[in-house]
Amino acid sequence: MGAKSIAVLTSGGDAPGMNAAVRAVVRSGLSFGMKVYGVMRGYNGLLNGDLHEMSMRSVSDIIQHGGTALFTARSPEFNTPEGVQKAAATCRNLGIDGVVVIGGDGSFRGARDLTGAGVLCIGIPGTIDNDIACTDYTIGYDTALNTAMEMIDRIRDTTESHDRCSVVEVMGRRCGDIALHTGIAVGAIATLVPEIPYDFQKDIVDRMKAAQATGKKHFIVVVAEGVGKTQEITERIQKETGIESRATILGHVQRGGSPTLRDRVVASRMGYHAVELLQKSVGNRVVAMKGEQIVDFDITEALNMPRVFDENLYRISAKLSI
Ligand code: ADP
Repeated sequence: MGAKSIAVLTSGGDAPGMNAAVRAVVRSGLSFGMKVYGVMRGYNGLLNGDLHEMSMRSVSDIIQHGGTALFTARSPEFNTPEGVQKAAATCRNLGIDGVVVIGGDGSFRGARDLTGAGVLCIGIPGTIDNDIACTDYTIGYDTALNTAMEMIDRIRDTTESHDRCSVVEVMGRRCGDIALHTGIAVGAIATLVPEIPYDFQKDIVDRMKAAQATGKKHFIVVVAEGVGKTQEITERIQKETGIESRATILGHVQRGGSPTLRDRVVASRMGYHAVELLQKSVGNRVVAMKGEQIVDFDITEALNMPRVFDENLYRISAKLSI
């Protein structure tokens, strides 16, 4: 009854807090009397046999570090039926009957396929973008938000000193959550997200002019990566408002750093929940957060859920920052 031997891997893009999840999986598994393997470099480790047995101490001193101690990778070979069979064979040979996969939607598709090949898999959402439909929260999101906010606060100091406009691009290719929340937190005059089309004149220029008329002299515009054209937007703002404008692309600084308390705690709870499922011989599930509860969904159902952007909060943010 229940998985006797499990493995944990991190896959796709890294996110701060992944280590806390790995630690929770290892320690929960060991406390349930399971054997636990750490798999190196995502699914590649299952293909190459690059995995080792973990002890309570193998995950010491990682909870406070960003990145992932197991390393991560994208594995084109695993993304083939032969690759999935090869990874399943590695698990069978070592007696591994459950795998916890920490990553994004792509990694969950792999987890679904590997479950189909006979190895129970559980997904844990680890990505800074918060772009996974089934969960209100992904591991790494809170750290990325706080990093982006802190960086923009620094940019704001110089923006203020020179009466400038700073256009700051934050991460989020398909998802504007980082932009929306940091935009609110730094008081951006405008926030552009991939989910909502914008009108340059109405949503940027008119807002800046209206604020200028009430005495505002410096401006922050936050642009999600998925909107793109940050340099172009910046030049156009300068041309149409006459306010000196500078572009900053925050980039990978948002992916690193010591995870916040929230990321560590959510990651720890999700890691424990994943192992509890495997202990009950349940596979093909994604762990998720709904409100403050940790829950789980069938992977296929989770992948088919539509992502909902908080348009109401977006409207509120526009009202506050003028
Ligand atoms: P993320 O998990 O962050 O969304 P990727 O989309 O790059 O990142 O996926 C990570 C890995 O998961 C891929 O390199 C591949 O090995 C595996 N994967 C992605 N999509 C699939 C799929 N459709 N079927 C099986 N495995 C997949």
